[in-house]
Amino acid sequence: MKITKVESFALHVPITPPITDAINAASHWGLPGVRIYTDEGIVGYGYTGTCALGDEMIVQTIDRYYGPALIGKDPFMVKEIWDDLRFGAMHWVGRAGIAHMALAAVDIALWDIISKAAGKPLWKYLGGHKPQRIKAYNTNGGWLNWTKERLIRDVSEIVEQGFTGVKMKVGKPDSREDYDRVKAVRKVIGDDIILMIDVNQQWNITTAMTWGKKLEEFDLYWLEEPLNPDDVMGHKKLADELNVPIALGEHVYNKYAFRDYIHQGAVEYVQADVTRLGGITEWLQVAGLAAAYDLPMCPHVGDMGQIHQHLVASTQNAIMLEYIPWIRDIFVEPATVENGYYVLPQMPGASTEMKPDCFEKFRVL
Ligand SMILES: [Mg+2]
Repeated sequence: MKITKVESFALHVPITPPITDAINAASHWGLPGVRIYTDEGIVGYGYTGTCALGDEMIVQTIDRYYGPALIGKDPFMVKEIWDDLRFGAMHWVGRAGIAHMALAAVDIALWDIISKAAGKPLWKYLGGHKPQRIKAYNTNGGWLNWTKERLIRDVSEIVEQGFTGVKMKVGKPDSREDYDRVKAVRKVIGDDIILMIDVNQQWNITTAMTWGKKLEEFDLYWLEEPLNPDDVMGHKKLADELNVPIALGEHVYNKYAFRDYIHQGAVEYVQADVTRLGGITEWLQVAGLAAAYDLPMCPHVGDMGQIHQHLVASTQNAIMLEYIPWIRDIFVEPATVENGYYVLPQMPGASTEMKPDCFEKFRVL
């Protein structure tokens, strides 16, 4: 099989109503991505996820550098292609961020092609582990810009829908307000629902130590991204001293950076995100690394779960998956949760193929 054409795109799908966490605000979810065509008629779809900012730079990286290097290549040689692109023209200027997100889109499209050619959903092609379903936890009721009333209403509805895990954002300017909101959510969801809180890097070590300790009383399942994602030592200190496990990984861009976190004991739930990590090829290596330390994989869903459901379903040490339903309607086989569990996809491929009309509706590049 040979690659004959590479076509970039960017879609902006509205988020209604717009959301914020401690450092981001989003009214649209951005999907800069790529369609890769082959001489056997199979088309692979890959994308990464953004707050609809910077997409033009990701698309330009694909158009100028990665796309031309792919023409004539065999998609089944995905790991060699990954090395060639990773250490190619973009290596000098981008070993993380834009370059790695563009690489993720390409790598995901290649795995989509491979599993389509095999006639299998990607999770089966990679070797299945969870044949029926995957536990989902819901992040979409806990945004930082929600009033306390809306927060309580939304998490209540999520629990009524059958979810047994809820994540909420913290990182208000006055941490006493965070405490008050977490207390209210724990009260309304009861003791049987797992509750995670996400700081989105907003705290420093002093705030994290002080308020992490105070919040322990609410039986938190994890404390997510409390500090700057480059601060391995700070997270190690928190992991040692708090009675709440540390989760992070959505801003960790390669296996070496994960190695440092894992080996130092500075992360307890590994949230590697395939859309940031350079794709499936690197994600699988991080999953193997985490497995050797008996650490669970719980991906952050920059893809909104479409691709990660395959990875969790085929990974022994992956325990559950985040759920945010913003973009599911654009896909041919949308990620679907019923009674708190992802229903595993059955169509061949990585569940990345988009309906043709979504390009008319949401394409910006
Ligand atoms: Mg997060």
